[in-house]
Amino acid sequence: MRFLVLLVLLVSVSLADVRVVVTYPWIGDLVRKIGGDRVSIHVIAKGTEDPHFVVPKPSHIAKLRRADLLIIQGAYLEVGFLPPLLRQANNLKIQPGREGFLDLSNYVQLIEKPEVVSRAMGDVHPEGNPHYHLDPYNIPLLAEAVKEKLCKIDPDGCPLYEKNFEEFASRWRSKLIEWNREFSTLKGVRVIAYHSLFNYLLKRYGIVLAGTLEPLPGIPPTRSHIEKLLRLENVKIILVGVYNERRTARFLAERIGAKVVLLPHDVGSLPEVRDLFSLFDEILRRLKDG
Ligand SMILES: [Zn+2]
Repeated sequence: MRFLVLLVLLVSVSLADVRVVVTYPWIGDLVRKIGGDRVSIHVIAKGTEDPHFVVPKPSHIAKLRRADLLIIQGAYLEVGFLPPLLRQANNLKIQPGREGFLDLSNYVQLIEKPEVVSRAMGDVHPEGNPHYHLDPYNIPLLAEAVKEKLCKIDPDGCPLYEKNFEEFASRWRSKLIEWNREFSTLKGVRVIAYHSLFNYLLKRYGIVLAGTLEPLPGIPPTRSHIEKLLRLENVKIILVGVYNERRTARFLAERIGAKVVLLPHDVGSLPEVRDLFSLFDEILRRLKDG
């Protein structure tokens, strides 16, 4: 009898489990916050990896094959590694356009969209800047999209997803008040960034992007481009991502009297960044120290 009860319990627990695969750790954190214990999450990229060049490991294929839902950042960010994984997983449910597929880039306004798609935007941003999760105002929109999708896939769990979403959104709103106050003290500060990784954040808070070390997104710095950057004045900070080489940034910083600041771009990119809240807290802390 006891065995039977246990069996029934186990079956009901596994039935409640929505198997979600996400491409990046910040999406995983968002799904965990909304889905709670009803979802199991597999994250493809590591927070320390370059999000444009994730290594497609075969271990992800099995997870994709059994997934109920695939959530991606979109805007061409995963184009280098996701299509072959999806093909090999051969799971109809999670193909683009199906119910088990969610492209979060459809829920925000992309910036730096080229008028015509061409190499003019460099190698890695053909449809505009895909790093939209670094505008804290976008996060509640994305949380809502995740909640809606989970409700569709698992209607029995919807009351829980609604409740978790409300709690998350309300906590986020109060943090926004704090972040708005703190980030606004950086308004007008001139920075150079290695890649256009933090542009949404800089734009939101009026921090001035005077230039990027890459001449175009995804194109490594060249001597002639660095020479142009050497002429920039009043640049306080050079921003580098955790996966960028730092030699060029240090070289430039020494000559123009700026400081190199390493910024996290995703959950898990630095040990301090455990979730989306600490992601923005840590970015703020490092920018203010810089
Ligand atoms: Zn990029």
